[in-house]
Amino acid sequence: MKIADIQFRSFNPGRRNLQVVRVESDNGYYGWGESGLSSRDLAVGGAVAHFRDFLIGQDPRRIGRIWQETYRSQYFEGGRVLTTAMAAIDIALHDLVAKSLGVPVYQLLGGKQRDFVPCFVTTNSQNLDDLIAEVKGYVADGWECIRTLVWGLWETEGHVFEPRESVAITAGWHTALREAVGPGPVIGPDYHHRLSVAEAASYCQRMPPGTIDFLEEPIRDETPAAYAVLRSMTDVPFAIGEEFSSKWQFAPYIEQGLTNFARLDICNVGGFTEAMKVAGWCETHYIDLMPHNPLGPVCTAASVQLGAAVPNWAWLEDRTVDLGRLYSDEIFPVQPKLDGTWYPVPDTPGLGVDINLDAARDLPVGQTESHHTVRPDGSVTNF
Ligand SMILES: [Mg+2]
Repeated sequence: MKIADIQFRSFNPGRRNLQVVRVESDNGYYGWGESGLSSRDLAVGGAVAHFRDFLIGQDPRRIGRIWQETYRSQYFEGGRVLTTAMAAIDIALHDLVAKSLGVPVYQLLGGKQRDFVPCFVTTNSQNLDDLIAEVKGYVADGWECIRTLVWGLWETEGHVFEPRESVAITAGWHTALREAVGPGPVIGPDYHHRLSVAEAASYCQRMPPGTIDFLEEPIRDETPAAYAVLRSMTDVPFAIGEEFSSKWQFAPYIEQGLTNFARLDICNVGGFTEAMKVAGWCETHYIDLMPHNPLGPVCTAASVQLGAAVPNWAWLEDRTVDLGRLYSDEIFPVQPKLDGTWYPVPDTPGLGVDINLDAARDLPVGQTESHHTVRPDGSVTNF
């Protein structure tokens, strides 16, 4: 079996830009993968095109070697853009090879550890009364873990984010929310890397102990030492890692206890090949995976296969409940469907997802530019 073609497609089926890769073999099999960057299409598509040049003709079953060759062959190893392209190819190779063997992808990863993959849900409320009602509704529907939106993250006029105002309001929200819903539900907010160390510490210190169960990405992640300083200022568990593009980026966060829930994104970290290594490294430190999954059905399907195969699992991000039906069956005739608060693990060959690119033919090509967020003084902050 040889790789016959690798195609990159970017399109926007409604909610966000999706970047997918299709790998074909010379004996009629194909597999799908997705890139986690979901922007800068020319760069990701260009990286896939470079890789295509030397991957055509190779044996698609040598997935681990292909990972090494794509990571290391340009001498300047890795990087976020290259690993998202690699991730898409790696996921597609797993889909293709599993189909060729007639087995689900999890069989390539050591077999099925669980029958269902638990998920967490995300709130969208922007005032306290709505937030309490929304969380109570999710608890009544059986959700164990609820991630909350902080004040001012989205939908602000001119995309202005004021951290001190957000910290004060959001700390008050969560204190009242915990009193309203009691000790049961797992609750944690996502700060989208918008805070400084001092702001993040203030946020945590303004709430009674036990108010939140995790804090997702309060500060940027380039400097693990900054997280170590923040760790010394609060005992709230951190959920970090959705941007990490290799096991090496995860390494200090795992080894120094800086991430307590690994927010791994299989479409960013480098596909199944790298995700399984990160999962094993996390297992040695008793850290559960809590994967990032805001992308398309290929990412969800790959994350479900990963969740089936690893022992250390907390929850998968699911956005189909808070945002509604995301992608049509016309474009994705086979896609994972949530059952209550978890995804059943499919037993069909491959990933359990398919794309009808003909149905996506008339959709806008990607190239969606995220809005650029600023502080009130006009300076730049993170998206
Ligand atoms: Mg996040």
